[in-house]
Amino acid sequence: DGGTGPCRHLRVVLLGDSGVGKTSILRRFVEGTFDDGVDSTISIEQMEKEVRVDGQRYVLRVVDTAGQERFRSLRENFYRGTHICLLTFALDKLASFCNLSMWRQEFLHYARVPPGTLFPFLVIGNKADVTPKARAVSDVNVQTWCGANADVPYFETSAKQALNVEEVFVAAVRHFSLME
Ligand code: GDP
Ligand code: MG
Repeated sequence: DGGTGPCRHLRVVLLGDSGVGKTSILRRFVEGTFDDGVDSTISIEQMEKEVRVDGQRYVLRVVDTAGQERFRSLRENFYRGTHICLLTFALDKLASFCNLSMWRQEFLHYARVPPGTLFPFLVIGNKADVTPKARAVSDVNVQTWCGANADVPYFETSAKQALNVEEVFVAAVRHFSLME
């Protein structure tokens, strides 16, 4: 149902450590595919997808980052004009969760979000398909972090099993709309 109403364009950035599944989440969301043997140094820059949320059409331009040193100089260009930032970690890698604060700070800095301004962040714990034994991040820890950061909404996803991927983007649009 394409509809004929006005269409809003939103720029969404996926941030987080290398290997947490940013590119896989984007692929799953836009192409509906998953590749187990993907090279985590490869990023697809950006892809667009139209979604309909609460009767409104949106075109999401989702920007994927490689999170590598050589791209540091480009970060300002990546982050500027962003409407929503998805802070991503992997549920089986504690370090990737510990780095969320760093990614958040870096985004606020390079995107030039005025201090004291609320910005629509969401937290994604990806790889929810891993075995309970492999889980390295407790739900309480994530909830505490989110509570300390203006109640950032949190979603567990699995790009591999197509769990919650579409949902997280819809929630992101809603979160953005409410904060506007
Ligand atoms: P990026 O560096 O953050 O872009 O991460 P990638 O998307 O390149 O994924 C890194 C690795 O994690 C790849 O081997 C993916 O196949 C794997 N991966 C990504 N998402 C998931 C997931 O939801 N579950 C599992 N088990 N593996 C995943
Ligand atoms: Mg990638």
